Amino acid sequence: ISITQLGEARRALEEPLFADLAGDIGISFEFFPPKSEKMEAQLWDAVRTLEPLAPDFVSVTYGAGGSTRERTHATVARIQRETSMNAAAHLTCVEATKAEIDQVAEEYWAAGVRHIVALRGDMPTLGQPYQPHPGGYENAAALVAGLTRLHPFEISVAAYPECHPESGGHDADLDNLKRKLDAGASRAITQFFFSPEAYFRFRDRVAAAGITAQILPGILPVSNVAQTRKFAGACGAEIPAWMDRLFEGLDDHPAARQLVAATIAAEMCRRLYAGGVKDFHFYTLNRAELAYAICHMLGVRAKPAAEVAAA
Ligand code: FAD
Repeated sequence: ISITQLGEARRALEEPLFADLAGDIGISFEFFPPKSEKMEAQLWDAVRTLEPLAPDFVSVTYGAGGSTRERTHATVARIQRETSMNAAAHLTCVEATKAEIDQVAEEYWAAGVRHIVALRGDMPTLGQPYQPHPGGYENAAALVAGLTRLHPFEISVAAYPECHPESGGHDADLDNLKRKLDAGASRAITQFFFSPEAYFRFRDRVAAAGITAQILPGILPVSNVAQTRKFAGACGAEIPAWMDRLFEGLDDHPAARQLVAATIAAEMCRRLYAGGVKDFHFYTLNRAELAYAICHMLGVRAKPAAEVAAA
């Protein structure tokens, strides 16, 4: 972040809380495919609650090792068919041949889905070093190139403000991001992070590398630090000590934890906004209320049903 940006950010931070957020924010949401009827009901409750906020798109994850291939497809296709929202399908390279992955992508195209979040993925067993399938796409950049050969998909890829754990450092990570964008992706969505400064430093490095694509910050509202820490280590995100302190003594107070979670995430978005960020991607974990509350604090309001349907 430059001195000027720092000055601007500081000035914005001195303004009254959330008072300067006035309807120029773009949002998107991530869901995961449900495993049971109960989870399906919860997902659709979240989808219907968040739909009036008119997100730019919503995405649905692909289980480790491609384990949710059918469920991801069914969820994405249904959102695309039955709601006013543009659905994006996550797709990974893990344990599949190119032909199999191309087939999945063809099915998305046939279902009217035009946006793919193209990822390498991780091995099904946690901690197992990544091994490309002998007949598959070797990494996300190769997958992006493969998808663009099939159809003119809109393609988003992953980015890591605090570095991907397997990368050889910031420069290698940035080279890899550049390869994915050069191959045909038009946007990067970041891994979650809890330090706006980490995002700003990453944004500066990205700009210095001549990358102009959107770097959409991924926002994870955390209401359970222990659970988040379990998977944060494996995905290149640090959980700061202040977060533990904020949740101390709240184990038996789930409602208070939710309020704290919303406050932390909204405050982080406000700081990002003060540094010029206008678009936010929320990891919802299929629960609407936290994301809804944060969007509300950011000045995002539900639109009338007719307006949402016409968009
Ligand atoms: P890549 O961009 O291919 O990079 C992986 C690593 O390999 C990096 O360290 C990179 O630097 C290195 N690398 C790549 N190519 C080369 C090369 N030629 N030479 C040297 N090094 C190289 N996972 C899922 O299973 N399902 C999901 O739905 C899912 N959604 C996600 C959404 C977002 C927004 C993010 C940020 C992550 C998501 N992930 C998902 C996790 C992701 O699959 C893992 O982080 C995975 O370990 C890396 O995927 P990638 O697409 O970033 O891989």
